[in-house]
Amino acid sequence: MPRLVAVAVPVPLLDALTYRVPEPLPLPAVGARVRVPLGPRQLTGCVVAHPSEPPSSGELKDITAVIDDQALLPAGVVDLCQWVAEYYLAGIGDAIGAALPPGAAQRPSAFKTRRVAVATVQGLSALGVTDSGLTQKQRAALDLVAAAGGLDQRELSERGASRDVVARLVALSLVTWRHDQVERDPFPHAAAAPASRDEERELTPEQAAAVSALSDRVAAGFHVALLHGVTGSGKTEIYLRVADLVRQSGRQVLLMVPEIALTPSVAAFLRDVFGDRVAIQHSGLSTGERHDQWHRIRRGEVDVVVGTRSPVFAPLPRLGLVIVDEEHDTSYKQDEAPRYHGRDVAIVRASRENALVVLGSATPSMESYHHALSGKYQLLTLSKRVLDRPLASVRIVNMREEYAAEGPDVVLSRLLVESIEARLEKKEQVVVLLNRRGYATSVMCRQCGDTFDCPNCSISLTVHRAPRGWRARCHYCNHAVLVPKSCRKCAAPYLEHVGFGTERVEEHLATRFPHAQIGRVDRDSVRRKGALTSLLSRFAAGELDILVGTQMIAKGHDFPRVTLVGVISADVGLGMADFRSAERTFQLLTQVAGRAGRGEQPGEAIVQTLYPEHYSVQLACRQDYAGFFERELAFRKGLRYPPIVALVNAVVRGRSLEDATHVADLVAARVLKADAGRTFTVLRPAPAPLTKLRGEHRAQLFLKGSHRGHMRRALQDALEEMPEVRRRVVVDVDPLSVL
Ligand code: ADP
Ligand code: ZN
Repeated sequence: MPRLVAVAVPVPLLDALTYRVPEPLPLPAVGARVRVPLGPRQLTGCVVAHPSEPPSSGELKDITAVIDDQALLPAGVVDLCQWVAEYYLAGIGDAIGAALPPGAAQRPSAFKTRRVAVATVQGLSALGVTDSGLTQKQRAALDLVAAAGGLDQRELSERGASRDVVARLVALSLVTWRHDQVERDPFPHAAAAPASRDEERELTPEQAAAVSALSDRVAAGFHVALLHGVTGSGKTEIYLRVADLVRQSGRQVLLMVPEIALTPSVAAFLRDVFGDRVAIQHSGLSTGERHDQWHRIRRGEVDVVVGTRSPVFAPLPRLGLVIVDEEHDTSYKQDEAPRYHGRDVAIVRASRENALVVLGSATPSMESYHHALSGKYQLLTLSKRVLDRPLASVRIVNMREEYAAEGPDVVLSRLLVESIEARLEKKEQVVVLLNRRGYATSVMCRQCGDTFDCPNCSISLTVHRAPRGWRARCHYCNHAVLVPKSCRKCAAPYLEHVGFGTERVEEHLATRFPHAQIGRVDRDSVRRKGALTSLLSRFAAGELDILVGTQMIAKGHDFPRVTLVGVISADVGLGMADFRSAERTFQLLTQVAGRAGRGEQPGEAIVQTLYPEHYSVQLACRQDYAGFFERELAFRKGLRYPPIVALVNAVVRGRSLEDATHVADLVAARVLKADAGRTFTVLRPAPAPLTKLRGEHRAQLFLKGSHRGHMRRALQDALEEMPEVRRRVVVDVDPLSVL
């Protein structure tokens, strides 16, 4: 019997590689990490199988070391990764990489203990004296170490304490290295608005019915339920009750949320109910925190994992329930390899582990609702808010009329201004949404019409306010320049800011309501760790009157004092060349309107738009989900888009558009040839909407059909025949965005 292992290595697009395990090394388990040679390099890989035969070709090499004497990844998770690699046409190394704890593939020695710097007794006393003889840098580093109580070298460097400075402090015995096994508690970052929960509150009749239906399914094997509950209908309470039942039955719970910082109350509630048997996993945590949490889960110390996308791979051995909150949210789809959808992987995982799945949303994705209507999923509906609170009433402002009356520069309509004023007087709070960050959408010369475009991408640069003047930045590649005083082409000094984003809305609000406290939430304003939490908790505490922001403020929040939601422009998403743009618009408008009137006072939403008659605007204003679904499904049927058919997208990158299109044509031809039975359609390759991105030109092709398996295989075969272009092709199975 040969001692062979198939190893997933962290190299894109590669299949598992077979190695021999030389004596006297022990045969590593599936899920254990090993060191292997690949070309001139030594890599850390993960064993995914024990092949009985060596591959027919190629020289067989030996692994160099076994890192884990037991499986690091449970075998079930390794299997799940193999499914992901196959389904999404990704390399097994990428899929395994998504499941490994942070750092596990890079530094095998660093993952068991972490070396952190701590201040010694001398160090602490040196801080107390003015004349310690330390340089300014040493002093600052010592301060940092003493205050933080354990930072590793990377964290120190990130905070400005260089390796040399720390080494010097160690040499002076002011600082020492400790091998840290203390777990960092990530909850302080998460708990922005820990609303307290009444012990046993009475469920509404709809909540009770949903809990009862789900209770019947606990321990009854694989099952998917779609909980369609309007905003404020109390879905969280249902999650908690069912989670508790599952936990009592001795199985574990995975709760997935789009972004933890945006739904801090969920994490806080869970902490309340389940105490320290909860682990939290999301990208906002430091590497060290994530690493600790991962190992707590692996050691079986938790019953409940709360996390974003990647925790779908959490090493839980007894999974009984997966809840995917806001299942329609696009952040569940990973936009780099492996391009998996967290919700869909969750369902696959649950089916393999006989677990119950609850998908929750006020605006379910077209896919999930389609499955619910066809009977594949069980549909549970909450049509009313808790405590008989009404849904927000919505009014539409036709901005064409507003421009005609007030001029073309209007940002805040008269109705919106009056309504904000009225709320501020009553000390109620206001949320203002514009799903576009920055100050202006572009710069244009009024004399020659020249616009400021990104040199690397086919997109205009967004204008941001900078400490000194204006900065134009590309939101795709981050290229940034100061906006000059005059036109680069014709030298005219008439450069105009065109369009507006959240920064400009904030400015308008500040001018119009000088006494109001205004906070802004978008990717720029929350870049600093903790900034988002701080803004949200200030708003929750009533220190802010108005919160303006992008879609980040539309998600899941429960601020009872918000009685007005203003939407500056409902049209931002409608112009996108994407078949999901109506769905996105409907979801965003419904969700943001759902932030109003969640407390005792009823809520109102005001939606500004240039297309008041558009069906996604109209139906969102009536909060008519079923009506929207029907209308949108008719559109998808007509053009044969998901959920009617499945879609696979392949983007080809090239030096020029001709080059990219040419290769895309070749791929398309081979795919067609591979599909002898004509089981799907291949759309003629065309330039991608973003024809140029980060300096590369892009053409794309689509495969459309009911058989994903056929499409995947044909594309896979075609690409395998063209190894020289494989790396230039990005495949996206079930794409969410096709820009
Ligand atoms: P959803 O997620 O459906 O939008 P939440 O779960 O955030 O709604 O609940 C909305 C609010 O109603 C929360 O403040 C929650 O504490 C409260 N709530 C939930 N269930 C009940 C109930 N049965 N009685 C009273 N209040 C409830
Ligand atoms: Zn760019």
